[in-house]
Amino acid sequence: TSSTPVLSARGLVKSFGGIKAVNHAAIEVPAGSITGLIGPNGAGKTTLFNLLSNFIQPDQGQVLFDGEAIESLQPHEIAQRGMIRTFQVARVLSRLSVLENMLLAAQKQTGENFLNTWLLAGQIRKEERENRDRAMEILESVGLATKANDYAGALSGGQRKLLEIARALMTRPRLVLLDEPAAGVNPTLIQQICEYIQYWNRQGLTFLIIEHNMDVIMSLCDRVWVLAEGTNLADGSPAEIQSNSKVLEAYLGQ
Ligand code: ATP
Repeated sequence: TSSTPVLSARGLVKSFGGIKAVNHAAIEVPAGSITGLIGPNGAGKTTLFNLLSNFIQPDQGQVLFDGEAIESLQPHEIAQRGMIRTFQVARVLSRLSVLENMLLAAQKQTGENFLNTWLLAGQIRKEERENRDRAMEILESVGLATKANDYAGALSGGQRKLLEIARALMTRPRLVLLDEPAAGVNPTLIQQICEYIQYWNRQGLTFLIIEHNMDVIMSLCDRVWVLAEGTNLADGSPAEIQSNSKVLEAYLGQ
């Protein structure tokens, strides 16, 4: 039904040695929302992302994507079903061009060895042409089209983050998990990234966003989940979270 969240988890536990990085955490991401995940350093946000995308398996608890448990799915299978994530440090391939980075993201989804086909056969098939058109369209929409043939390594930190988000869109996701899209990005570009996220959200994409920049969280999110010491501290509208005394304390106590 429409009220089923696209992504939800409950009772998640994950320890590393003696450290309970995530300790009975829950989250819900309604379809069509921009949902925020915040918390002090070391709260377990990235670990929770890793659990939600099945990059790591929980000691306890369950993640449901479209109401289905994802524990038996590989990250690429999850991507095929429409959930994709980015990383805190953008993982673009510096020695490939911006366009090649985009095309590789599409290839991952089809499972073909696209680069070989493309480089060795020198033949651009229909699907590849479509991917290329789509890649250029997305790059155009984020102002990176003029950089399509530049090495990704030549981009600024902020542009690299943008490329990582753009690349995630190549897989035609319905749900995008963004790990700190504004970290290390200059204020002008942060503003633009926020506008792109809002634009894609209007096109029907759902977002879950980890972010330390409160302006970004407050301006983008419908609902915010707060994690502290691996567990849920609060969740609510940005305004509720901003005035929640437990949340303020957790941040001041850092
Ligand atoms: P930040 O905002 O600083 O990125 P975070 O909220 O994303 O922090 P995590 O990175 O999930 O927090 O870390 C939560 C806790 O788990 C920390 O104490 C961290 O040191 C620990 N931790 C995370 N991953 C590992 C790992 N692979 N091995 C050991 N400890 C880990």
